[in-house]
Formats: sequence, C-alpha cells, structure tokens
Amino acid sequence: MSNAPLESLLSLCHRLGSPAWRLAILGEGNASVKLDEGTFAIKGSGHSMETLTLDGLATCRDKLLVDVAESSEVIPDSDAILLRSRTNELGIKPSVEALFHGWLLTLPGVNYVAHTHPVAVNQVMCGDHGPLFAEKRLMPDQVVCCQAKSLWVPYVDPGVDLAREIAKRTRVFIAETGMAPNSILCQNHGLITLGPTADAAWGAMIMAEKSAQVFVGAASISQTGLPVFMPDEEVDRIVGRPDEAYRRQILNFVN
Ligand SMILES: [Zn+2]
Repeated sequence: MSNAPLESLLSLCHRLGSPAWRLAILGEGNASVKLDEGTFAIKGSGHSMETLTLDGLATCRDKLLVDVAESSEVIPDSDAILLRSRTNELGIKPSVEALFHGWLLTLPGVNYVAHTHPVAVNQVMCGDHGPLFAEKRLMPDQVVCCQAKSLWVPYVDPGVDLAREIAKRTRVFIAETGMAPNSILCQNHGLITLGPTADAAWGAMIMAEKSAQVFVGAASISQTGLPVFMPDEEVDRIVGRPDEAYRRQILNFVN
C-alpha cells in the first residue's frame, strides 16, 4: 500500500498540533485516515500531535469498534477492545477515541477525522451557548467550511459512551438534514471535524475555532450578551451557491 495516506495524516496532525493554533497541547487530540474498506490509521494513545512520526500511528480494523459504538452492551474493559482492533498485535495502542473515529470513517465520503480541544471552541463548549453556536452561523466563510449547522453532543465520558452518543446523534442529524455533519461540538470537551480530504477536516477545524473566537468577542460587547447571527435564509443561500462549491474545490475540500 502507498504511504501517501499516512504521510497526509502526519501532515494533518502536525498542523493540528502546531502551537500557533492552540488546538491541542501535550498528548491532546487525535486524527485518523481511512486506508481501505475495513481499516484505518490513527494517532497512538498519548503521542504528541506536533511531533508525531510514522511510529506513533496505530492501524485498526473498524469492524469491532463500529460494533461497540452501535451496541448498548456494557463494555467492562475498553482498552481490551482498542488493543483487539489493531491489525498488528505488536503495534502501539490506538487513541482511546479510536471508537468514534472508526465509526465516523464508515460514513460515505469520509476519509479523514480530526479531533482537538481548541481554546476558543472550548470557551463556548464550557459555557451555556454551545447548542446555539452549533445551530447558528456568524459569517459566510463559516458556512463554506463548517456547513450550515454543526452537531452538538452533550458531555459524556470519552471512549465508549462518547462514540455511542456521536453515532446516535449523527444518525438523527443525517435524517434531519440529509447529510452528515462535518463538525461535531462536544460539550466540556472539544471539536471533531471530518471530510473527504485532510484539508477539509483542517479547514473545518480552524474555521470553527475562528468562529468561536468571533462568537466570544461579539457576545462580550453586545448588549444582549449574544452575537448577531446570519439570517437562516442567507445561510441557506451560501450553501447552494455554485461559486462557493468552486471555492471548496480550490481549497481541496473535495476529492
Ligand atoms: Zn478529546
């Protein structure tokens, strides 16, 4: 198999871990790439995004992880599930969040999943405006990079519970909007972005972080304590505009 997907994943991890963006420090965050139907590569547990090398990547089969995310069976030892999912039993332990990565990578057209704990997004995620930030849009470029809405997920324990909550709520989001979310906001935790290319996952990540900075700033100087949002019909207009589809292509957001 070509190393291109792994090199592309490493480059995404280095961007996500770059101190300039304040998205992830120490061992925070993780990212994954689909390798073929059934397997994916993900950052190993505890490794730093900024300095990640090929040795810090784990390769997993998604079947076992997807089965766990889709069941409600009590899992006494999620570490054992993570270790059993490896394609190489001598390989490193995958990130504890491999469960939601594995599940999200089975969605049609999704090849990359990124997850971080960005400062501004978490300022919103740790306040009481999280659902509103997911539902509304502030600027046209936020619509281009993060779609018309994000998915909001209330706090649950990271690992099995979070993967199950994401799977359940993503299914509802798809039923309501006809498409999968490309940004998932996790209360008191952080942000997950996904897409067909590494640049799409990266673009949604940094635009969501910029939007959160704008949200916090606008709320702090508004008399209402809230930003002024774009009208819903203007958001819908941006979603359907052909020149915005062209921009997504130029930005390498589509395959
Ligand atoms: Zn996390």
